[in-house]
Amino acid sequence: MDYQAVLEEVAAHARPYVRQGRVADYIPALERVSADRFGIAVADINGDVYGVGDWETPFSVQSISKTFSLALVMAQSHGGHDSIWRRVGREPSGTPFNSLVQLEAENGIPRNPFINAGALVVTDRLQTLTGDASTSMLHFLREESGNEDLAFDQAVADSEAEHGDRNAALAHFMASFGNLENPVPSVIEHYFWQCSIEMSCRDLAVAGGFLARHGLRADGSRLLEAREAKRINAVMLTCGTYDAAGEFAYRVGLPAKSGVGGGIIAVIPGRCTLCVWSPGLDARGNSVAGAAALDHFTTLTGWSVF
Ligand code: GLU
Repeated sequence: MDYQAVLEEVAAHARPYVRQGRVADYIPALERVSADRFGIAVADINGDVYGVGDWETPFSVQSISKTFSLALVMAQSHGGHDSIWRRVGREPSGTPFNSLVQLEAENGIPRNPFINAGALVVTDRLQTLTGDASTSMLHFLREESGNEDLAFDQAVADSEAEHGDRNAALAHFMASFGNLENPVPSVIEHYFWQCSIEMSCRDLAVAGGFLARHGLRADGSRLLEAREAKRINAVMLTCGTYDAAGEFAYRVGLPAKSGVGGGIIAVIPGRCTLCVWSPGLDARGNSVAGAAALDHFTTLTGWSVF
């Protein structure tokens, strides 16, 4: 496969979609990002990386971090008696990512780890397991991506906290059901730091390589059992692209996780991990040009999980 040629063609296809949609504007630090940006990278399972456009420009990972917090928690609990799955479900929510209504009806157990409530529970668990749910994630991402310069974006984290009433409400609500182990302020603070990490398409594609390598890290050591990597990929497919996961699976046919920074990572198990970035979002919160690019990638290559 000539990855470089495929990516060039994918980028040309996606170009008309760049600037479509709306850049996230719920915090000023995201609103300032230019809608013109587009980048895509592929990291194959042997460690080779290819990219086009703004593939080396860092952006705010936002909800893509939810994939890594879940992986880190699963890596440390290995489905044991303290399994995270007692505290969070794995069904699509059918409601917006920051919705409160379902939580009340379902006794404080979030539908899945990729809506905010679910990610807060996972972050809470990571906090208990590591003592620092955001720095442990940053260190993992630095190691996996090979980029020691990865960092939190203080302005984004501060701004998330300033506009964080809804996330605080979700956390307090779950605490009232006994579904948090740590104090609410500490859980939401670490969640905001996780969201604020800045990474490029290159960094994310490389760091997500363990999902394509059936749980093996970049250095060949095992992070997750193969069945655990499969499960994360399955939850990405069914729940990873907000309230549009059905449509996304229909179009692209790959496990994926998006974030409101405009990034999407996608996994082709046994082959490669992709990351695409373009800040214009559709009404559900997925990058318009990013989804078009991944759609075209699987069309051109014929690669999907189906
Ligand atoms: N920091 C965002 C929030 O919790 C994450 C949004 C996202 O990427 O889905 O509201």
